[in-house]
Amino acid sequence: MASSPTLPATMRTSVLLKQRDLTIEDRAVPTAGADEVLVKVAAVGVCGSDVHYYREGRIGDFIVDAPLVLGHELSGTIVAVGVDVDPARVGERVAVEPQRACRLCRECRAGRYNLCSKMAFYATPPIDGAFCGYVTIQTEFAHAIPDSVSFEAAALLEPLSVAIASIRKAGIVPGSSILIAGAGPIGIITAQTARAFGASEIIVSDLIAAKRERALKFGATRVIDPVAEDPATLGLDVNAFIDASGSARAVDSGIRSVRPAGTVVLVGLGNPEMILPVSQIQNLELTVTGIFRYVDTWPTAIHLVASGQVDLDSLVTGKFDLEHVAEALDSDRNEDSLKSIVYPN
Ligand SMILES: [Zn+2]
Ligand SMILES: [Zn+2]
Repeated sequence: MASSPTLPATMRTSVLLKQRDLTIEDRAVPTAGADEVLVKVAAVGVCGSDVHYYREGRIGDFIVDAPLVLGHELSGTIVAVGVDVDPARVGERVAVEPQRACRLCRECRAGRYNLCSKMAFYATPPIDGAFCGYVTIQTEFAHAIPDSVSFEAAALLEPLSVAIASIRKAGIVPGSSILIAGAGPIGIITAQTARAFGASEIIVSDLIAAKRERALKFGATRVIDPVAEDPATLGLDVNAFIDASGSARAVDSGIRSVRPAGTVVLVGLGNPEMILPVSQIQNLELTVTGIFRYVDTWPTAIHLVASGQVDLDSLVTGKFDLEHVAEALDSDRNEDSLKSIVYPN
């Protein structure tokens, strides 16, 4: 294994013992396997899924029944590589795509590694995440970033990847119109991504006035208060609707806002089961789909940020060290908070 000379034996690690119970442990620094790199973690974004595991101890069937390290939006510097990896990679600044696929199954071979049944995804029980000093990842999932991209923005390439996967599914091309429900981090990043893909009309709905204001700064061409006016009654006639709210009501009125042969992409988590307007879907031949994470999005994400088409640095509203992960996870309680970053080292 090639490595930089100053690797410590242990690293500080934030561990979720159970619901609402975090502690800091000293753990051994992992060793890169033959096809892996060891990354010294620079910045980790806090995601809604981390918050769910912290507050509820579960997301659907994924249950925290053993200690778990949270954090899956991360960047850092390669400090060691496995025997099969080019030693010249040591020293590279990278954004980590936080998943490990089997490469062999039917879905992997079809290029849909996000649907691999053996997928090991960071910070999803029982796989540990990145609120720690060092992590290992297969070399092809450590994506080199240009110097112009900050470590914070590099960490947030993960939610940007969710947005890119959604926009691709929605079929957005220059001149498309789109309705996005929810102006949280995913909604805001999706609005910016829609703009980068050439959408001419980007309509964002959210219950909270401050979030609607913020959406206008990040790509929305129009915002809607769904309590004051139901989007379905406004004749929006959009090409695509992306739900980033998880609200059954938003999904229903979003589907009713799409033009014939349009597309609906369900991204938001919240209601695992909903009643859908089936006759609308049938009569207008709508395509309704979901996304599960992403495939091959980092190269596009790096380009969108490096070229200035998507601004991730401005989304950061809080910065925390490893001792304050609990505060970072609770920062969404403040309406002005958008994205918190944890610095493990
Ligand atoms: Zn995330
Ligand atoms: Zn597989």
